[in-house]
Amino acid sequence: MSSIIQLLPDHVANQIAAGEVVQRPASVVKELLENAVDAKATDIKLIIKDAGKSLVQVIDNGVGMTVTDARLCFERHATSKIRQAEDLFSLATKGFRGEALASIAAIAHMEMKTKQEQDELGTHIIIEGSKFVSQEVAVLPKGTSFAVKNLFFNIPARRNFLKSDTVEFRHVMDEFQRVALAHPNIHFSFYHNGSELYNLPAAGYRQRIVGIMSGKTNEKLVPVNEDTEIINVQGFVCKPEFAKKNRGEQFFFVNDRFIKSGYLHHAVMAAYDGLLKDGSQPSYFLYLQVPPNTIDINIHPTKTEIKFDDEQALYAILRASIKHSLGQFNVAPVLDFDRDSNLDTPYHYKDVEAEVPTIQVDGTFNPFTDDKTNQHYAKAGSGSSSGYSSGSSSSSNSSSSYSGYSKRVEPTVSWESLYVGLDVENAESIESSPFTFENEEVTSSLFNDDEVEQATQKTYQIHKKYIVSPIKSGMIIVDQQRAHQRILYEQFLLNMTVNQASSQKLLFPLDLFYSSTEMKLIEELKPSLETTGFIFEEAKTDHIVISGIPVNITESEVSLVIEQLLSDLQDGIPASSYSQNDTIAKSMAKSLAVKTGSYLTEKEQDNLVNGLFACKDPNISPFQKPTFITMRVEDIDKKFAL
Ligand code: ADP
Ligand code: MG
Repeated sequence: MSSIIQLLPDHVANQIAAGEVVQRPASVVKELLENAVDAKATDIKLIIKDAGKSLVQVIDNGVGMTVTDARLCFERHATSKIRQAEDLFSLATKGFRGEALASIAAIAHMEMKTKQEQDELGTHIIIEGSKFVSQEVAVLPKGTSFAVKNLFFNIPARRNFLKSDTVEFRHVMDEFQRVALAHPNIHFSFYHNGSELYNLPAAGYRQRIVGIMSGKTNEKLVPVNEDTEIINVQGFVCKPEFAKKNRGEQFFFVNDRFIKSGYLHHAVMAAYDGLLKDGSQPSYFLYLQVPPNTIDINIHPTKTEIKFDDEQALYAILRASIKHSLGQFNVAPVLDFDRDSNLDTPYHYKDVEAEVPTIQVDGTFNPFTDDKTNQHYAKAGSGSSSGYSSGSSSSSNSSSSYSGYSKRVEPTVSWESLYVGLDVENAESIESSPFTFENEEVTSSLFNDDEVEQATQKTYQIHKKYIVSPIKSGMIIVDQQRAHQRILYEQFLLNMTVNQASSQKLLFPLDLFYSSTEMKLIEELKPSLETTGFIFEEAKTDHIVISGIPVNITESEVSLVIEQLLSDLQDGIPASSYSQNDTIAKSMAKSLAVKTGSYLTEKEQDNLVNGLFACKDPNISPFQKPTFITMRVEDIDKKFAL
């Protein structure tokens, strides 16, 4: 076979935008993989060491090179792929600049072995910093192998500029995934530091996507197919319910090349209009084929951006075809994000009655006989003009703030003690007798402590937000959401620090999938999460298997709880285990607490108020907001006196 490489004429070379080819190991990976694809390989192996810093090797079974080409391929502007400027407008190959190998050879130790099918022997070349060290004939299999070692060995500044192995590896992984996704018909394998990360047999788009992402991806995919004169669209979008918080898995391929396009992304998002939770991102894998002369892929040095002739038409077609697919696969109607999930998952006390905190009632204790607490649950004539007494520190008398109160009361006092002395029948008779309201003396005598009757008090829920209940001094208004947060928060903290939290074993373990960054967080939090009652069967690279969960949460709440936790921990995991526990307890309390807008039965209201006053700090939510306020009778009186 004759040699196929020619030097580009200068004027052609100048038409090609200049750009730095090699920024990092991932750039080498991209160039070598693309060359192998261009060489029509059906089997491509990527081997890297130390995130590619010490070795990037690509072995292919493609067409190989003649002896002459083997030598020539390291020259700048040496390419077999275009001959004249016009060729730029009908490109079917990845490379065309003839710059990659020359650039890489200039800044690394490079070894190449190549042989064409019909040749008996192949060529083995070693080149270091653009200098040919050796060239030999060798017995080789068909195809080409490039090994790039010690990247930037002669440019220490660039070498030092490289990021950590984790970061560089991530970039390599991105490039590998993009090329492998673009070419499912090629067998790809990928090894890092001796271990196999991927082995992807030749397949169709769906299998390749699943092979790259994870096994669970399959059920999330909805196929997209559209064929028009100006564009052919194939591929998959994700069902809306699997949309994620980050933009990790979004891929456009145009003529088998990965590209980024904010404009086309917008078209996809428009197709999902109304189907996504605020800010969530659907995964997509879209393969567009357009006539090569209608695009310009030469506008960006790294060639991931592209210019289309008729962008608006492509936008409309893409949006319509995805909308159609989402509709056809009937994914739209099942979604209703406005639905109140609390209606589906009843306030959990209902289901786990046994979990209601135990209330230690000190029968002999009466907060209303205590002079200090009297300033709060003020008796008639205390002189305070404030109609509301809240738990906030802005309380008019700081020495009698609620937090002080709650600390003095040991063991914790049940909220019933607030009612101690309140005679229900007499209270009703008050209503029928306006006169008694005029007379504070009379009012006081009605609350005679000697006539203690433990009455079960009626609670009322108003506006699905507050629980109102009469107490001795007037009435109490509890914020249901904040109160429940406080209860759950203390339960979780107690379980994590003192008790051995019990777990409910799941009949079928839960399989939850996360990104590698999220998996890292989960891995770090595992010990703390286990103290809340979670049992982790295994943690793989991309998913966890949970076989037990805390008793006070339901199975359907698990993924919500973990999602919330991950988002609460976005700024990092607190260093001390104390604040780690605190953060987890707060986060779980936040996601599990009954929300404003949820209807509570009388029993639930009762449990909530009881639970709140069994807390150590009943007056504030874990997020430092007042959980309840009280209104004294005389303050109500004053309002009527106006
Ligand atoms: P480009 O890909 O832009 O043509 P490169 O510097 O990447 O430029 O490669 C130069 C030439 O070397 C290619 O045009 C091709 O002819 C040859 N070549 C590179 N890699 C391979 C390979 N794996 N198999 C066969 N030929 C290759
Ligand atoms: Mg190339």
